[in-house]
Amino acid sequence: MTDATYELVIVGGGVVGAALACLAAGKAGGPPLSVALVEADAPRRFALSDPLDLRVLAVSRAAQYILSACGAWPAIRKARVSPYREMRVWDALVSARGYGSIHFDSAELGEPDLGHIVENRLVLSALYDVLESLPGIEIVRPAAPAAIDFEPGHAVVTLDDGRRLATRLVVGTDGMASRTRRLADLGCRGWSYRQAAVVAHVETRLPHEATAWQRFLPGGPLALLPLADGRSSVVWSAPAGRASELLEMPAGDFCDALAEASDFVLGSVTGSGARASFPLQASYAPAYVRARCALAGDAAHVVHPLAGQGANLGLLDAAALAEQIRDAVESGLDPGDTPTLRRYERRRKGHNLAMLLALDGTHRLFGSALAPLGVLRRAGLAAVDRAPPLKRRLARRAMGLDGDLPLYARAS
Ligand SMILES: Cc1cc2nc3c(=O)[nH]c(=O)nc-3n(C[C@H](O)[C@H](O)[C@H](O)COP(=O)(O)OP(=O)(O)OC[C@H]3O[C@@H](n4cnc5c(N)ncnc54)[C@H](O)[C@@H]3O)c2cc1C
Repeated sequence: MTDATYELVIVGGGVVGAALACLAAGKAGGPPLSVALVEADAPRRFALSDPLDLRVLAVSRAAQYILSACGAWPAIRKARVSPYREMRVWDALVSARGYGSIHFDSAELGEPDLGHIVENRLVLSALYDVLESLPGIEIVRPAAPAAIDFEPGHAVVTLDDGRRLATRLVVGTDGMASRTRRLADLGCRGWSYRQAAVVAHVETRLPHEATAWQRFLPGGPLALLPLADGRSSVVWSAPAGRASELLEMPAGDFCDALAEASDFVLGSVTGSGARASFPLQASYAPAYVRARCALAGDAAHVVHPLAGQGANLGLLDAAALAEQIRDAVESGLDPGDTPTLRRYERRRKGHNLAMLLALDGTHRLFGSALAPLGVLRRAGLAAVDRAPPLKRRLARRAMGLDGDLPLYARAS
């Protein structure tokens, strides 16, 4: 006996799961499916008077288009976003504008900006506003799966309160410690960076110039991202012991350490809000799918945050999976069948793994104290900076303007 039947059950209502739910329920066209979105946390709403969320995302152009297809981008943009028009990346031994640095400028690409810094909570809030307006969606929260039974034509998700949901397809978007992945016997491999990212919003003497700043220090990268209220969001990756010190030291000491670590690129740091830290790891599921089940977002892959790509990759997963499901349903096929799910996996797994390995390689190259590697990386940055066609290609790739993009990730 089951309590309800849906075409799709999505476990995990973070940014990726909520976006997938919007697309699958027909927000961007296509046949609207009946969807249950199962989320462990109780609802939290966003108010403009709330202090800025410590968890911010650098949203790429492709991710922006996906959020537009979900119907969420206009509300996000209207509330508060911070477009960044330039990016400067430099090695610890040089200056932000010297030899061995690289500078991206949206004007050189003919784009209004390179992306937007947006609060995670604002993105979620806008997506849930859309979800609540869609007739085919049921948001089941707080709830989590206790078991998943896979039958030949369907799956049954038993929730921890005993309710049983039957469906043609279960999607796990429940983050890096995905329970769906475990219950579906889909494995996971990975490693810890023995680092943590310390995050905070800070005031600086100089304006941020709508620029994303990133300095590669021997202990890990330090990013200063421009916020809508003129402050900068810090993401400072450091060895675990140093990260604990940075988290616990008095605010004044933290500001001084940050100003020095950022080479005073925004002058002195005059104030800091609350700090938090996130342990850093890389992981990936060797298989994203099995019959009647697929993984997306951090449940399928976790990358080092040095390029701010995790949620962007996850939104591309959501868009690719929604497109495959739509194609299958429009052709009269079963969206939970293995061939449909394999097409999704083929489209996303290679891309995500390539990004994971590129970020891991960058982390290792820039974290190495070996002098020859230092010379190599400064020469590399300088060479790319002086090769406009290559730089342009890299920037367009990072923005999600080139490559095999799902339908919902393209400009409409
Ligand atoms: C310091 C830092 C900075 C970052 N900066 C960026 C950036 O600038 N740009 C970017 O694109 N990415 C960034 N990322 C990565 C990004 O935060 C993640 O990749 C993204 O949040 C993953 O989204 P998700 O929806 O897959 O998972 P999550 O955000 O982890 O959401 C998972 C959801 O599932 C729910 N859940 C968990 N378990 C269960 C369960 N058993 N049952 C039901 N629900 C469950 C959770 O409550 C949550 O709502 C950063 C990460 C870090 C650590």
